Amino acid sequence: MFWLPKRRDGRCDKCRTDGIYIKGDFSPRFSNLALEQTQKFGEMWRCQNCETRWFVTSNRQWAYRIGPEFTPLVAHWNETALELTLPCLTAATGIGGVRNDWEETVILPCAVTTKNGERFEKAILRVTKTPPYRWYPVEKVRWAWEIAELEDSRFALPLQVRRASHEKREEAMGFAPTDVRSNDGRSFTLGNASDFFEHEGVTGPHIQLAPRPRKRNMVPFAETQAWFWVDWSDELVEKITTSAEM
Ligand SMILES: [Zn+2]
Repeated sequence: MFWLPKRRDGRCDKCRTDGIYIKGDFSPRFSNLALEQTQKFGEMWRCQNCETRWFVTSNRQWAYRIGPEFTPLVAHWNETALELTLPCLTAATGIGGVRNDWEETVILPCAVTTKNGERFEKAILRVTKTPPYRWYPVEKVRWAWEIAELEDSRFALPLQVRRASHEKREEAMGFAPTDVRSNDGRSFTLGNASDFFEHEGVTGPHIQLAPRPRKRNMVPFAETQAWFWVDWSDELVEKITTSAEM
């Protein structure tokens, strides 16, 4: 074991990145990491040099550094069963989600009323085997058990548009355009994987896929208000990715 210098932020040189593609074998490049605890999916490892925690996905493809602000969220995720009630499951099945096998996640836009009476018109169910670990502002991370009512979102794009948009490959760095049009004939281009649409008086349900227009009309990204974490189960994923619309 060789000495790894710690940087000013307290992390060692091995732990400065956010995510590492490990292709199943963790040890050769990360001898400084030790298994801390098996999680409900995946495993938690800890750097013995700088104490940084790493989440290793259940398919052992990725290791993700867990920022300190996410540590309590990951602990809650691990300790809590995050399941949908039957009425929520029925509503979600009618909406349909887009599956991402790369991340072992299904993304499903909806409107949510929480048990506390909060209302989110642009909410996303994140059915997944990975905990919240970065990217999301902490306050936007919510849990399945908070949901009192789940309904169609009036801003959600139709399933075939969402699927095309999520599956679109990048044409340039961070740019994976999907061309669409509104039912009244206006052309728009979604710049990235999109679930909602609210632009120039048009909302998601009035959008359909379209051929590429001569001049693209890029749409600003419609921001998600809250992500609700739901535990992956093969049975649940089968139901919500095989809806009537497909
Ligand atoms: Zn480290």
